Amino acid sequence: MVNMSSTVLKHKRATLERLEKYISEIYFTDVNLFGRVDSKIPHCKLYRSLARKQTYQAFESVKNGVFQLITEGEEFKPLWSQHWVKVIIPANVCNMENLYLHWDVSGAESLVCDKDGNLIQGMSHKRKEMKIVVKSHDEDAVFFIQISCTGLFGAGLNGMINAPDPNKTYNLTKAHIFVRDQAKYAVFMDLSVLYDIAKESDDNTSLCYDALYTGNEIINVITLNDHSPESYQQAIQIGKKLFNSGIVNGTSSRDTIHAIGNCHIDTAWLWPYRETIRKVARSWSTTISMFEAGMEFNFAGSQVVQFSWLKKFYPKLFSALKAQVVKGHFSPVGGSWVEMDTNIPNAESMVRQFLYGQKFYREEFGTHSDILWLPDTFGYSGQLPQIMQLCDIKYFLSQKLSWNLTNTFPHHTFIWKGIDQSKVLAHFPPGDTYESDLKIKDVLKTVSNNKDKGRTHDQMLLFGHGDGGGGPTPEMIDRLERISSITGMPQIVRSTPQKFFTAVEKSSNMLCEWWGELYFELHRGTYTTHAKLKESNRVAEFWMTDIEFLSSLDVKGLVSCSKIEEMWKTVLFNQFHDILPGSAIEQVFIDAMEDYTNLLILYNEEWETIRDVVMPDSKSFVVNPYNWARRQVLTINEVEEALVEVPSTYIGSISLVTPTDKAGAFVLEDGICLCNSLIKVVFSLEGLLKSLVHKPTQRECLEAGGMGNRYVIFDDVPLFWDAWDVMEYHVETRQEFHPTSIQVVESGPLRASVKITVPLGAHGDLTFIATVLAETPYLSFKADVSWRAAHKFLKVEFPLSVSSTEAQYEIQSGFVSRPTHANTSWDSAKFEVSGHKWAHLGEPNFGVGLLSKSKYGYSANHNCLTLSLLRSTKAPDANADMDDHVIEYAIYPHAGPLYTSRIVQHAINFNHPLLLHSTLHDNTIPRYKPTLNPARLVNKTSLRVSSEEVIVQAIKKGEHGSGLVVRLYEPYANTVSNVFISHDLLSQAFSINAVERESSKAPLSTSENKVGPLIFRPFEIKTIYLELDATVDFTNGSSSKRAKLDE
Ligand SMILES: [Zn+2]
Repeated sequence: MVNMSSTVLKHKRATLERLEKYISEIYFTDVNLFGRVDSKIPHCKLYRSLARKQTYQAFESVKNGVFQLITEGEEFKPLWSQHWVKVIIPANVCNMENLYLHWDVSGAESLVCDKDGNLIQGMSHKRKEMKIVVKSHDEDAVFFIQISCTGLFGAGLNGMINAPDPNKTYNLTKAHIFVRDQAKYAVFMDLSVLYDIAKESDDNTSLCYDALYTGNEIINVITLNDHSPESYQQAIQIGKKLFNSGIVNGTSSRDTIHAIGNCHIDTAWLWPYRETIRKVARSWSTTISMFEAGMEFNFAGSQVVQFSWLKKFYPKLFSALKAQVVKGHFSPVGGSWVEMDTNIPNAESMVRQFLYGQKFYREEFGTHSDILWLPDTFGYSGQLPQIMQLCDIKYFLSQKLSWNLTNTFPHHTFIWKGIDQSKVLAHFPPGDTYESDLKIKDVLKTVSNNKDKGRTHDQMLLFGHGDGGGGPTPEMIDRLERISSITGMPQIVRSTPQKFFTAVEKSSNMLCEWWGELYFELHRGTYTTHAKLKESNRVAEFWMTDIEFLSSLDVKGLVSCSKIEEMWKTVLFNQFHDILPGSAIEQVFIDAMEDYTNLLILYNEEWETIRDVVMPDSKSFVVNPYNWARRQVLTINEVEEALVEVPSTYIGSISLVTPTDKAGAFVLEDGICLCNSLIKVVFSLEGLLKSLVHKPTQRECLEAGGMGNRYVIFDDVPLFWDAWDVMEYHVETRQEFHPTSIQVVESGPLRASVKITVPLGAHGDLTFIATVLAETPYLSFKADVSWRAAHKFLKVEFPLSVSSTEAQYEIQSGFVSRPTHANTSWDSAKFEVSGHKWAHLGEPNFGVGLLSKSKYGYSANHNCLTLSLLRSTKAPDANADMDDHVIEYAIYPHAGPLYTSRIVQHAINFNHPLLLHSTLHDNTIPRYKPTLNPARLVNKTSLRVSSEEVIVQAIKKGEHGSGLVVRLYEPYANTVSNVFISHDLLSQAFSINAVERESSKAPLSTSENKVGPLIFRPFEIKTIYLELDATVDFTNGSSSKRAKLDE
């Protein structure tokens, strides 16, 4: 019989808020359920270690040291320091069931371990509880807690992304033990989920009201029975009307949500990387303890460097992690050394992210990840799909494009097609986050927001605190358990990234394609912020090209490759998506610059080691790793310059050549002219660039009446993300700065140059030297800038006489075209874009390139090509770019279309000039006397590439075996055939994938020491493995091949 007397017509809002107040942490806690779940016990003693300098390894030295009794309120400082506290829980308390520790140090991060140093879990402002598991009820329980004086998101002064507050202190505000009533807690969780369902689900569904009324009934039952233990058991039974325990929900659901735990840990961001090492330990120990406590979920861990830290600093925890990998609970994904930026690193760096990342996974876990995991990176290069495929990666996971300011990206699950037409399966979790709390709204949004409904019924939901680490909490798992058993909700399953992609792949014939780059409509300032990081990265990438090419002479494998791998890892580490983009605190920048300094030391040492083995007699030589001959003006001793020529793929001595051309500087009536046989440049008497004529076509390159090389400064105040964002309105604040003086510095015949001063007012000082070199088809600029600005953006503009609706920008092993107009919102959002060593504006038969040595931000507005030079952002680094800078760029006119322009080769020549290697390592520069007789050139390598239509990306020793790896790409979107690679010692050749997996090896036809003909598709990257006959000693000049010995 229905008891009508207790049923009232319920007002939805009143009933909903009744539920809310019943579980509120703020209101009515004296009578509500929240206030009854936990009971504090006043027994816990706290001691503070007096030992100093306590880092990740310090536990062993701390535990037996001197400790001092402390109480709540104890202060910890300074910022970034580490402190150990010993917590003793008396034996009489340890007898009790369901004991928890409540811990808070003003939100500082803490790491709990047991008395033997075994890590238990991390604590932070988002996780203040720890269930206490005692080994014995007869003795005191002892825990050690390491406090790090930083929060989950660093310690920004008056704002999360502001520069850290050096005076910040932390106080131990909570350190007590409580007992949790498990039945009350279960009802509390039931009510939380019921409240969420009633609040978040559609008013028109019965589920909404079922949840509301079930919650209401639970409160009535408990209240009417005066909170008796039986009433909570009754309440649990009432809850089960919705939470059909044991029955997987949504048998009628058409959608499957794959719930996967994760924990995005920025490798360095608002904290230095040393803290990240502890963050990894805190976050992953928490997850592993949850697994060990029997909680059912799966976790995806990414960024191989973080695994390598765990192995080095926390070996016991790493073993525990390995056990969870074997059980299938913990999935190592991503396969890249870090979650890198993909706008700025070059193609070879991207390949090495996977080569060294996957190597670690293979060696430690026996696995290979076929998922690229970049949830937070700022836009994705159009060459990534090919690089992924070449590295055996089929799937791509991100979500960052949900942050787009202008356009909503039209897909969540799609086929991503690269600029070379390679395809990968991509997924952006439709919940638009990688750090959900696994609440009802996250579950519902994951389905309702999915742009690819009907094409796929599977979607991923990532849960767990992230960015600063943290990961899933027990509450999230409790919610998962309840949500996954409610009929009427989308089906939610505990899944893994692999299971998700395998499921989606089955429906992939219905998915749409997206071609080319995934341009991120935000964070466009990161192409420019922290200029010195970008410059160092580019230089380091060239160091790696040179040293690996030199090491390729070591065909007998006399020198180990381990140092080269170590060097690469430094380069790769600093390509992390908050380091290289310049969006981290000052300490991260200082650490990175120190890394590059140490890298140079290592480079020099390694260079000498290899040189002593492969070229013991050569003290002065040049390296040309590229497959075209070089003619270049080179400094051959302290002051002398000469024109030198070396063949393609060359390591050896130099010889001088007689120039076929002269550079000159001439003072005219109304200006100064610099010229050679290819270009003629006129500066006004104030120093304005008035004219740039391409002599072979007599074409004026600058817009009629316009001036080139215009330095302009814009206001640069974004909406929030200071180091990250430049907004489109900055272009409305353009201010031009004019030169005030000009003088001729050199007047030929190899080099003609003028020096020009451009005052920048309070923002800084700028002088530049413009140079025309003999035989060189471009005008180069070298600007010295003392930069003191605040929230200003310095750029240089070239208004050209060239008209095109699209400009081209170099990316990894290719280029992309982007609009020069703003017809649509998609076009207008690209007002600032990234590019590597060149940008180009061209007509079918003429074009102008803008070459850059270390800048990555460009823009093209109609006929004006602009290079972004310096920003002056104040958060999270208050001093970013406040320094002296040397900025080099060049303007390069050419006849014909882009694909015959050789702009790629010129940009490499400009960026990576020949260097006399004796001068690199020693402070004492030898008086080297080059010869004028080209016949005396001795090339130490016999490797040759027959065509200049493809570009050498890397020549290196193979990872396995004694062969050489040659990586080449087609740069101009052409099909190129008939490419041959030859080597005097060639015995066999194979095509191989970029991570050099044996299983990918396929034999190629060879004859007379040559492999080929090879055919390259547009933008194709090929990796060729050359098996060499290392029994031939060819470094001494002998290149005759002997019969290969059987091994
Ligand atoms: Zn991140």
